[in-house]
Amino acid sequence: MTNTNNHSFSCEFFPPKTDKGRENIEATLIELKKLKPDYISCTYGAGGTTQDGTFDTIQQIMQHGLEAAPHITCIGSTKEKISGLLKQYKDAGVSRVVALRGDLPEGMEDPGELRFANELVEYIRSTTGDHFDIEVAAYPEKHPQSRNMQDELIQFARKAEAGANAAITQYFYNADAWVRFVEDCQRLNVTIPIIPGIMPITNYTQLARFSASCGTEIPRWITTRLEGYGDDLDSIRAFGFDVTLQLCEQLIDAGAPGLHFYSMNRAEPTVRLWNELNLG
Ligand code: FAD
Repeated sequence: MTNTNNHSFSCEFFPPKTDKGRENIEATLIELKKLKPDYISCTYGAGGTTQDGTFDTIQQIMQHGLEAAPHITCIGSTKEKISGLLKQYKDAGVSRVVALRGDLPEGMEDPGELRFANELVEYIRSTTGDHFDIEVAAYPEKHPQSRNMQDELIQFARKAEAGANAAITQYFYNADAWVRFVEDCQRLNVTIPIIPGIMPITNYTQLARFSASCGTEIPRWITTRLEGYGDDLDSIRAFGFDVTLQLCEQLIDAGAPGLHFYSMNRAEPTVRLWNELNLG
């Protein structure tokens, strides 16, 4: 069995919008804490739509004695605003951030002062030195806006050069895409850890919608099965669990330096995978 001691295992939340959502996060945290994750990150809406929610969730995570990593986006923002945000997090005891460009919200046209994630990483490094561990995004199946895979790799390398410590990938279901991406990065002398982002499969309609917008391919053999289950949620979850577990095993065997679970604020799918994989 692979030794996973030096690996990074982490989870991701999004900021809840309701009191019920906040209670749910509390219950999820109680379960995830038992796994001793390296950190839990929380997303942030580009344009600042979830700014307060992200900060509150980060505090909630830290109250459980866990390391918390806020996501920060730069599109449509200003250096002053980002600087304020970094200070707020530093003062709160945060030492890790996930730095992203984000997507301009509909109706907003001004991209702001920092137009791409590499510029955000550069800005964080120039204003806060080595205080923060910086994670960035990686796209083994290509970001929808990149012209081709070569361009994807070049732009990814710029984020590493700007001072990123590691990367978390968009979720994918083809382990080969990650293996190839890492090999291509090594050829470009980009050696930061590239941690696969894992999206448990629990709801086919939602997954299909997300995947279409972020450019993730759901292999045909998986789609065919999931569609065939119709409204039978138990079968979708059982099959989804097997597929995701197999993907995680393939990735760890192929040398993945960790896994980052998109928890969707739910404990159960991540806890099951984590325990089955014997992580931690
Ligand atoms: P970039 O790395 O800047 O890349 C965006 C596009 O621009 C790519 O096509 C790239 O090739 C191109 N590009 C990059 N640099 C340059 C350059 N200098 N010149 C020309 N082209 C360039 N979104 C949110 O709103 N909030 C979140 O919390 C959030 N969390 C995420 C977490 C992870 C792990 C991932 C994978 C994605 C997340 N996203 C989030 C989505 C992300 O914001 C979008 O995918 C966004 O479109 C790109 O962000 P990026 O940081 O990857 O951008």
